[in-house]
Amino acid sequence: MATVARPILPSRMPPREDLNPFHISQIQFDMAAELLKLDPGLRQILRTPKRILEVSIPVQMDNRQTKVFSGFRVQHNVARGPAKGGIRYHPNVSLDEVKALAAWMTWKTATVNIPFGGSKGGVICDPKRMSKGELERMTRRFTYEILPIIGPENDIPAPDVYTDSQTMAWIMDTYSASVGHSSPSVVTGKPIALGGSAGRHEATSRGVLVVAEEAAKLKRLPLRGASVAVQGFGSVGRAACRLFAERRAKVVAISDSRGGAYNARGIDPLRAQRYKDRTGTVVGMPGTSRLSNDELLALKCDILIPAALENVITLANADQIKARIVVEGANGPITPHADEVLHRKGVFVVPDVLANAGGVTVSYFEWVQNQQGYSWSEEEVHTRLDAIMRRAFREVVAAAQKHHAHLRQGAYVVAVGRVAETTTSRGLFP
Ligand code: NAD
Repeated sequence: MATVARPILPSRMPPREDLNPFHISQIQFDMAAELLKLDPGLRQILRTPKRILEVSIPVQMDNRQTKVFSGFRVQHNVARGPAKGGIRYHPNVSLDEVKALAAWMTWKTATVNIPFGGSKGGVICDPKRMSKGELERMTRRFTYEILPIIGPENDIPAPDVYTDSQTMAWIMDTYSASVGHSSPSVVTGKPIALGGSAGRHEATSRGVLVVAEEAAKLKRLPLRGASVAVQGFGSVGRAACRLFAERRAKVVAISDSRGGAYNARGIDPLRAQRYKDRTGTVVGMPGTSRLSNDELLALKCDILIPAALENVITLANADQIKARIVVEGANGPITPHADEVLHRKGVFVVPDVLANAGGVTVSYFEWVQNQQGYSWSEEEVHTRLDAIMRRAFREVVAAAQKHHAHLRQGAYVVAVGRVAETTTSRGLFP
């Protein structure tokens, strides 16, 4: 594996670091387009979203006052199949963030070669300060507003930050009521009772584990006993901790939005989960010492898994990263400038479009099962997921080697190449 390759196409890198996620996604795309020598017209098609819908969502709050939220649904590309992407509830959601996340979905579904395009949705809100009733009313009205562009053949939402299987159940119910029949395949990540797939809840984390195993093999690092730090103790981070601990890796640090917990001898993920359920945070868990999110990222450990939000490793702290392998559980945690620093330091980064693609892969399985009206066993889901993730890892490594590039560029070359080929074969309409 070429770990020390030539610098990352500096001609494509803006002189100053830009933290706008959509600009970042375009820089990443441009680098791959350059390596693939893509035609300028094709570049224009692929670097911009196909469709953007911005909506106002009036909601009656518990105090009977009306509050209007802003929401977005962005479909970046549908050349290879229906658009696919999660819905995020967060105060910092912006249109540019949703555009970036939609583009990353296009490259992710293409990296693992599943027949979907890429999309994303988001609502600017603070879900931690909303009641369940308020969240339900907001979700149902948001669904109604984006109804014209979603659907099992058009665009299929899934959970993302601060949304979950309950959110998907409300979307599925609202959509079904509007079209006049039950339509489970309009969303993935649903409760099993509504047609959700076995294994979906931990699929992203299982994919993270599989690519971490492959990366560790390449770096001759035994997973058993390896020290692992995980930023973000949500859907992805929590299950990742449990799966790594099952492989006898040592989870030494975990964190959430309030800070982190550290124990060099290892943290029991199940106890951490119970503690967080009780207190709302991992901070202060008995038997651990407190550390900040910045300190967690800079820990000396074998594997670092950012599994919270984007732009957590930038030029400001890339130099301090001491992990041997970084596996991006989150979308967009490392900026292109930081990528370059990590690459020069010899840190092996498994990029988001590959590393966290296990979630969308099992979402694809869920959609297939819904379309067939048939369900697979959890074991079958795991086996198929494992095969797809390992194949994608091998293809990405091969592409990186071919282009003397690092893994993110390898993944983008694979993904952009696939979407470009489909787009060219389909041609322009009219
Ligand atoms: P989640 O809402 O379940 O969990 C997010 C976690 O991040 C929470 O523990 C929260 O406390 C923590 N967090 C929030 N702000 C933080 C901060 N400033 N510093 C540290 N921690 C912070 O969300 P999730 O579904 O686990 O998603 C996490 C990341 O993984 C996102 O980037 C998401 O896009 C990505 N992702 C999720 C899935 C999925 O299947 N859920 C799939 C692919 C990628």
